[in-house]
Amino acid sequence: VLKYSPFVVSFRKHYPWVQLSGHAGNFQAGEDGRILKRFCQCEQRSLEQLMSDPLRPFVPTYYGVVQRDGQAFNQMEDLLADFEGPSIMDCKMGSRTYLEEELVKARERPRPRKDMYEKMVAVDPRAPTPEEHAQGAVTKPRYMQWRETVSSTSTLGFRIEGIKKANGTCNTNFKKTQEKEQVTKVLEDFVEGNRGILRKYMARLEELREALENSPFFKTHEVVGSSLLFVHDHTGLARVWMIDFGKTVALPDHQTLSHRLPWAEGNREDGYLWGLDNLIRLLRGLAQG
Ligand code: ATP
Ligand code: MG
Ligand code: MG
Repeated sequence: VLKYSPFVVSFRKHYPWVQLSGHAGNFQAGEDGRILKRFCQCEQRSLEQLMSDPLRPFVPTYYGVVQRDGQAFNQMEDLLADFEGPSIMDCKMGSRTYLEEELVKARERPRPRKDMYEKMVAVDPRAPTPEEHAQGAVTKPRYMQWRETVSSTSTLGFRIEGIKKANGTCNTNFKKTQEKEQVTKVLEDFVEGNRGILRKYMARLEELREALENSPFFKTHEVVGSSLLFVHDHTGLARVWMIDFGKTVALPDHQTLSHRLPWAEGNREDGYLWGLDNLIRLLRGLAQG
């Protein structure tokens, strides 16, 4: 019916799609205004449940699983579709970025890893112990835990994964950005000192915090490696969404998380709200400063 209505104009907007993290092959263009992300069961479950949770307005709309060239994808809303030449930032939330179960698994047969040693030395040559230097290798659990201490993940409960600005500049090298002052500078540069944009981001984050505190889904899930995607453009549009639920897992029956208490192995606390509190505080400082 709609096909014949003169008032319904459908057109395909062309814009360069930007991916700030993850493997390059994980995403494909979907139908209009949608993208496809390589299928992950954990993410499917989360997105499905989130569609009937108070968090829904803060999550890309989920359109189910689709097959393409024999591969499965989760189809979801393209959050960039309404923007004109957007600036984009991916902030990975939480005080750790691996699941407790990943740490347990990494410990089962902790083989010495040369590749992880090399990554470690590339960031900080003084990080390995004398024994690790002698071996030229570190174990995976050691590497996982060390990595969190280099960025602001362990000190602020979030880290900036990547930024792409409207002017084309792109930076995904914030591995060692840890100090509050450094992080604040990066945030300030991202909004180019625009107070209006800052205020919109803050208002949106405060609404998100309230929704998180009232979300049955959030209370009952360990949310790890999930990001906040910040998007704004020259028209003054500025929004934030939660993305990446590949490591968002349900807790055992009746267990809940505060998302603010410090992590001690076994309590599964992820520090998500602690990180969000810190992020809001830094942005407020910028808006006032
Ligand atoms: P990783 O686990 O390494 O972070 P991933 O493969 O799980 O990567 P995501 O983190 O979900 O992938 O997404 C990677 C990037 O793709 C994001 O940083 C963002 O730039 C972009 N992106 C993801 N989902 C959307 C979306 N719904 N709309 C627009 N951009 C998106
Ligand atoms: Mg991600
Ligand atoms: Mg992921």
